[in-house]
Amino acid sequence: MPHDSRHGYVDPRRVNNAARQAARRRVLASYDTCAICDRPVDKTLKWPDPWSAEVDEIIPVSKGGSPTDMRNLALVHRRCNQLKSDKSIEWARQAVRGKTTTKPTSIPFTASSW
Ligand SMILES: [Zn+2]
Repeated sequence: MPHDSRHGYVDPRRVNNAARQAARRRVLASYDTCAICDRPVDKTLKWPDPWSAEVDEIIPVSKGGSPTDMRNLALVHRRCNQLKSDKSIEWARQAVRGKTTTKPTSIPFTASSW
C-alpha cells in the first residue's frame, strides 16, 4: 500500500476528518454569498471576525446530516452561524431578514448593529 500522504494512502482512522476538510474547502471555493443572509462573504477575514466565513451543516451531524455531502453544507458568516445555533437554517434566514420590517430591501448593513 502506498504511503504518499499527498496523493495516495490515507489512514482510515482519519479519512472521515480528511473528507470533511475537503468538503469544507469545496464549499469555500464554490460559494461567495452567505446561505443565511445572502450577503457577500469576505473569505479573507479571519476567525473570530463575525463576518469571517464558516461552513455550516444544514442538518447537523448529530441529527443525521452528512458532514461531507455538498447538499448538506452551506457557506455562512460566523455571526449568522451563531445566530442559527442549533436551529434550522430556514429559521435563521427569516431571523436575519427581520420578519417585522416593512422594507426588507432597506435593512441597514453595518457590522456594529449586532
Ligand atoms: Zn450571513
